[in-house]
Amino acid sequence: MIKLTERQDKILQIVKQNGPITGQEIAEKLSLTRAALRPDLAILTMSGKLDARPRVGYFFNENYEVKRQAEKFLHQKVIDYKAHPIVVEKSTAVYDAIVQLFLEDVGTLYAVDSRGHLAGVISRKDLLRASLGNKNLHELPVSVIMTRMPNIFTIRPDETLLEAAKKMIDNHIDSLPVVKEVEEEKNTYLLLGRITKTTITRAYLEIMER
Ligand code: ADP
Repeated sequence: MIKLTERQDKILQIVKQNGPITGQEIAEKLSLTRAALRPDLAILTMSGKLDARPRVGYFFNENYEVKRQAEKFLHQKVIDYKAHPIVVEKSTAVYDAIVQLFLEDVGTLYAVDSRGHLAGVISRKDLLRASLGNKNLHELPVSVIMTRMPNIFTIRPDETLLEAAKKMIDNHIDSLPVVKEVEEEKNTYLLLGRITKTTITRAYLEIMER
């Protein structure tokens, strides 16, 4: 995206408030000649920020503004939106994991091993499936029912919300653990946070309302 000069910004504001407005009228508001404005108007119309109609004048392109907001949203970084991850030891009983899910009011728990590294993902459906039948939920550890490494889809803090959204939709999952790779250990991650479909929706609302 090209950076606008101060004068181009002023022109945009004038057209936003007064459009449709002729080049001559814009020039008068800025105490400039029409000729001096021509290059700026050319840049603003060619880049789509302004529309020009013969004999009517210049007007602000609302679609461009919406597109710009949408782009801004999609380029936001995971690090700025990640939420706190709710973590259990992988030896935790399924019963206790269910209690934890309600207490923390989340849809997904993450399991870690004794070194604190990401070991598994436990979703609502995983817990429901484990609860069907007559298993002893107090004895059954979550490690038996969770989705395990290396089958976990993860996201890094420097990736974008667009990448996170794609990963969740493509893989039919509700959340992604935000991770940092442990140096020189393949598929070993430290858990930094989580991104959920709610995170994406909240970021979208925030940016559109701003
Ligand atoms: P729910 O079970 O509440 O519908 P999900 O759609 O997120 O939640 O989970 C569906 C399945 O995908 C579950 O078996 C879960 O363990 C698994 N899963 C969830 N998140 C991930 C992830 N980031 N990577 C791999 N598998 C996941």
